[in-house]
Amino acid sequence: MRQLIAGNWKMFGKLADVPAYASAVLAAPTHVDLLVCPPFTLLDRFAAALKGSQVALGGQDCHANPQGAHTGDIAAPMLAEVGARYVILGHSERRNDHGEANAVIRAKTEAAMAAGLIPIVCVGETEAEREAGEAMQVVRSQLQHSLPAGFAGVAAYEPVWAIGTGRTPTETDITAMHADIRAALLAQLGEAGAKIQILYGGSVKPGNAASLLALPEVGGALVGGASLKAEDFLAIANAAPRG
Ligand code: PEP
Repeated sequence: MRQLIAGNWKMFGKLADVPAYASAVLAAPTHVDLLVCPPFTLLDRFAAALKGSQVALGGQDCHANPQGAHTGDIAAPMLAEVGARYVILGHSERRNDHGEANAVIRAKTEAAMAAGLIPIVCVGETEAEREAGEAMQVVRSQLQHSLPAGFAGVAAYEPVWAIGTGRTPTETDITAMHADIRAALLAQLGEAGAKIQILYGGSVKPGNAASLLALPEVGGALVGGASLKAEDFLAIANAAPRG
């Protein structure tokens, strides 16, 4: 399966940034699936700039309802209408900043699938949980309670302490966690669990991408900071294994 290299711009970026970034990613390598998740305000401009290309667009969140009186929220059908194919859900910054619990993330995931979007559901332990030897238990519980029955999407393992810090787990720890996530997906979803792509996220950079993306069961990367510079994002995509 082709690896998915997804860029999460978080709350960064201006309309003026779109043309140069879009033309850079249009020259992206073709052995990976490339995805850009900018802030909502840039989606329409990106959709126009990337029209007809293989580079996909995604949102960074959606509401669990398809419409309604929810000030400041975005519905999954709205993302689909503007040209998004994916949506990131349950990012640790949403879990922390907005108190999103697993049940909320599960409802959002169902809404995303109902709107025809591919949800990327994030899971990951805090540093204290890892130090307490609870990382796998925490991640299993997040998967169990965040993924609805019939989940068809992507899982992203993002240790909270590795996001934006320049630190990453050891290759042994990533390999062990991804194997455990695969086992949990199979237990939860049956055969369908074998097909779910598992991304690694947390301080992926051009310098460490090749070794991280070569690990077993790593099906791509969710990239925050390094996705803001097209050159770095493309260097990460280029580092993904071929075939
Ligand atoms: C993220 O926010 O999903 C992320 C992985 O960030 P960074 O790459 O900056 O660690």
